[in-house]
Amino acid sequence: MAETPLDLSLDAARLTARLVDLPSESGDEKPLADAIEAALRSLPHLSVDRHGNNVVARTYLGRSERVVLAGHIDTVPIAENVPSRLDEEGVLWGCGTCDMKSGVAVQLRIAATVPEPNRDLTFVFYDNEEVAAHLNGLGHVAAAHPDWLEGDFAVLLEPTDGQVEGGCQGTLRVKLRTKGERAHSARSWMGANAIHAAAPILERLAAYEPRRPVIDGLEYREGLNAVAVEGGVAGNVIPDLCTVTVNFRYAPDRDEQEAIAHVREVFEGCPIEEFVVDDHSPGALPGLSHPAARAFIEAVGGTPQPKFGWTDVSRFSALGVPAVNYGPGNPLLAHKRDERVLASMIPEAERRLRDWLTA
Ligand SMILES: [Zn+2]
Repeated sequence: MAETPLDLSLDAARLTARLVDLPSESGDEKPLADAIEAALRSLPHLSVDRHGNNVVARTYLGRSERVVLAGHIDTVPIAENVPSRLDEEGVLWGCGTCDMKSGVAVQLRIAATVPEPNRDLTFVFYDNEEVAAHLNGLGHVAAAHPDWLEGDFAVLLEPTDGQVEGGCQGTLRVKLRTKGERAHSARSWMGANAIHAAAPILERLAAYEPRRPVIDGLEYREGLNAVAVEGGVAGNVIPDLCTVTVNFRYAPDRDEQEAIAHVREVFEGCPIEEFVVDDHSPGALPGLSHPAARAFIEAVGGTPQPKFGWTDVSRFSALGVPAVNYGPGNPLLAHKRDERVLASMIPEAERRLRDWLTA
């Protein structure tokens, strides 16, 4: 293997810079995966597995709990922002500094410097997170080797500005079709207007009152919204088809089937001819009541926040592993040309994780 040496004795901020300078746009992660694998294989307390460009390393100390620390190694396309640059204010600039090579650096530092953790550790480094879901390396590992991802609790080191973000909301997209009958618009009584038939659907949406359920102490906010309306044949034709696409963002106390059933119920009595589930990703429970999670919250401090968007914590949840996001870096700076991270936040996150894993 022609690996680039990765020196895990560098402090977390320097290691982040090193990782940024090893480009790994989605689909081109191999050199970085090779370097990570080689660095981990040099650590005698870890057993290392690889599937494609995904690397998993585990301790086997016989502890009563196992914690997973996971992060993606790919970045969005570089935008003239590599190599990295550290300025006088201590800000590290470059593609992936925030999302999420700083988090990956923290994982690597914990792997290298905590040989006897109080909980068994699993480190997951995966590819293709920033692209289509079917390419996602964590999904591939979950399908091929679900046992590699077993654990009691998982932390994804995505940028959260040092806050704990618990669980994530699910998302469901449904196409609601109304039908009518085409006719010349000069003789509209000869037809039936499918766009007009959609009016009650829009009324229900406008009147919808979303829930704000509290789960494990976190308040989630649901939303049911039209995201597209399609209809119309020509300027002189009564349309015979109209499609309203609705997106339901739902709290993780509902599962997939309950979310679909809820949407059906909302539109009950509307003249819907077809109800098509177009896209669906389930949510994830925060699992903050688990002892390992509680100890984690205590060690890192702050008030956990709910995650409204969909994230890979949901893939762990599907495997029965509660998961949260926690990492250095401000998520609002992810994917930007001027992507950056306050360098001091990186060793700070490392210190808090170490406190939790060595207490
Ligand atoms: Zn990310």
